[in-house]
Amino acid sequence: MAEIRIEKTAHPKEKPDSGNLSFGKYFTDHMFVMNYEKDKGWFDPRIVPFAPFEISPAAMVLHYAPEVFEGLKAYRRPDGSVQLFRPQENIARMNRSAERMCLPQIDPELFMEALLALVRTDSDWVPAGEDTTLYIRPFLFATDPKLGVHAPSMCTFAIILSPVGPYFPEGVNPVKIFIEKEDVRAVRGGTGFAKCGGNYAGSLRAGERAEANGFAQVLWLDGVHMKYIEEVGAMNVMFKINGKVVTPDISGGTVLPGITRKSCIEVLKDWGYEVEEREISVDELVEAAESGALEEAWGVGTAAVVSPMGVLAYKDVEHVINDNKIGPLTQRLYDELTGIQWGKIPDTRGWIVKVC
Ligand SMILES: *Cc1c(COP(=O)(O)O)cnc(C)c1O
Repeated sequence: MAEIRIEKTAHPKEKPDSGNLSFGKYFTDHMFVMNYEKDKGWFDPRIVPFAPFEISPAAMVLHYAPEVFEGLKAYRRPDGSVQLFRPQENIARMNRSAERMCLPQIDPELFMEALLALVRTDSDWVPAGEDTTLYIRPFLFATDPKLGVHAPSMCTFAIILSPVGPYFPEGVNPVKIFIEKEDVRAVRGGTGFAKCGGNYAGSLRAGERAEANGFAQVLWLDGVHMKYIEEVGAMNVMFKINGKVVTPDISGGTVLPGITRKSCIEVLKDWGYEVEEREISVDELVEAAESGALEEAWGVGTAAVVSPMGVLAYKDVEHVINDNKIGPLTQRLYDELTGIQWGKIPDTRGWIVKVC
């Protein structure tokens, strides 16, 4: 395996004020890059100053969109050291996403080495403020300078880093959700399980419409029947109904297999909750909301960790959940996961990887 070459910047940037970070706006001094050509494999893994790429206007990604990405975070512990949360899961998922898009696999060991080396190089950029993190964005895209429609034979893999503030600067409060009845995010046999840019491109319109009408996110229904709940925005979704936790099952390939989702299920089971991974129809959900059986509803994902839903709007009716307040189980999950991630409570499950 090739050594990672490190070329440090001669012009370190000024760091942004850590009390004033928004999401994905500032980038650190360095990035990881390596290239792929079909007959050479991956080559020249390197950490270099953060700078624009040069690609052909014919580059395949600009026309046919073979691109996949990941999102994870580096957390600063109270003792000042830095750690990652389940990065092996992101590495494995990126390779599954890549397989769907005919993009090449990345050796998991090299991927992990690249993550650790890059975060160590820019470790001064891991913010220390309350609920702040260094967001890590690995991504892989096809660069073949050809308009023919074929599986890619040239690619770039890169990792960039962005210091980010709390997802909810005003604190974790319930959000209003619009149940989308027109656009769909994924279909059976499609790319729903892959973390690919194309899924996001197709979801922007519904998100914009919902936002213009005063909603924070859309709740996606399945693309075949427009009946079963899939995800909320770019998060997985969980409901507490009559004391049990219910979440859409991911075996159909249309729901993104979230690492936060998986972690929440493990934690909930450890706490003795029954967790059902199954189809849940919008009618069942609305009925549960009307009868009061729906006790709590929340989204889960790396960016916000856990995000309570206060209002669900379906067919012009707004259903209020738990008096539009964060529920006790939602709060407990938030505290448990963020506690482990920031190193404030012990990691008993082997989820933490120390960086420096
Ligand atoms: C990334 C993502 C999630 C959440 O996954 P995590 O691994 O928990 O961050 C959920 N849905 C979609 C569409 C996503 O892209």
